[in-house]
Amino acid sequence: MKSEGIFMNLPKSVTICEVGLRDGLQNEPAILKTEDKRKLAEKLIVAGFKVIELGSFMSPKAVPQMADTDKLFSLLGSVKEVELRALIANKKGVERAIFCGCRKVKLNVSASRKHNLANINMTPEESIAGFAEIVELASQNNIQVSGSISMPFGSPWEGNIPIESIQSIAEAYLNVGITEISLSDASGMAVPNQVYSMCLTMQQKFPQVKWWLHFHNTRGMGIANIFAAMQTGITHFDSSFAGLGGCPFVPGAAGNVSSEDMVHMLDEMGIETEIDIVKLVEVAKEIRQLVGHDTDSYILRAGRSKDLIRKE
Ligand code: ZN
Repeated sequence: MKSEGIFMNLPKSVTICEVGLRDGLQNEPAILKTEDKRKLAEKLIVAGFKVIELGSFMSPKAVPQMADTDKLFSLLGSVKEVELRALIANKKGVERAIFCGCRKVKLNVSASRKHNLANINMTPEESIAGFAEIVELASQNNIQVSGSISMPFGSPWEGNIPIESIQSIAEAYLNVGITEISLSDASGMAVPNQVYSMCLTMQQKFPQVKWWLHFHNTRGMGIANIFAAMQTGITHFDSSFAGLGGCPFVPGAAGNVSSEDMVHMLDEMGIETEIDIVKLVEVAKEIRQLVGHDTDSYILRAGRSKDLIRKE
């Protein structure tokens, strides 16, 4: 362990959710075979991931890349001590989850009022109030539900989002019984000091919430934002193998911080992830080959720092 971090307020361990199979692949023009996705998911589990977002239960017309999510859940079954989750948009999503054996779903609302109003003519809080029946159906069927708030750090529609708006969305989630909430910087507009202060404020105001952070590396600030969040005690982050991904609303959007860059930084700082980076790098190389183009991953490009040290 390098000693430079010894005086910093950093966690001993971090949990990473691998979102490449959902957030990454949904932005790829090529549609992978279900069998390839299954093999990738199994390799991610062997590499040590305890949380994996496998896909989404959206309309197959709107997101054809995710049309086989049900099949993927059925093929994998339940894996001991691993949470396999899916993104959903409505009640239909829970029905599909029940049918294929998915035990964890994630809802999403936009922190941008203009975006939410333009899309479905509801404020984010009204959207969440409508989630109550989804949460009820899920809990009757022993399915856990988490929530996410996209673009809390800045939106292409109104720029800065006031913290009061984010807090009122968190309250709306708590009102329907959701206590696990993700802040998702899909627009890649977050900056580290903003992340630091928002994470502190939200944890103080809502200590009962398990917070997740989800950063896109569109402007190269993803890992700096993760580092800022960690210093406030946040220990749950999403990342994407090979840095796969994008965002349909943001021109030039990059994927999430690459999982191997994230694990490499944490390994070098002595922060436990339980993920084997050598195995992870192998899976990341494989997905890069399957999508057929280069991706944003420093570790795939340069290797680990450790690999650079010459052995006599
Ligand atoms: Zn995302």
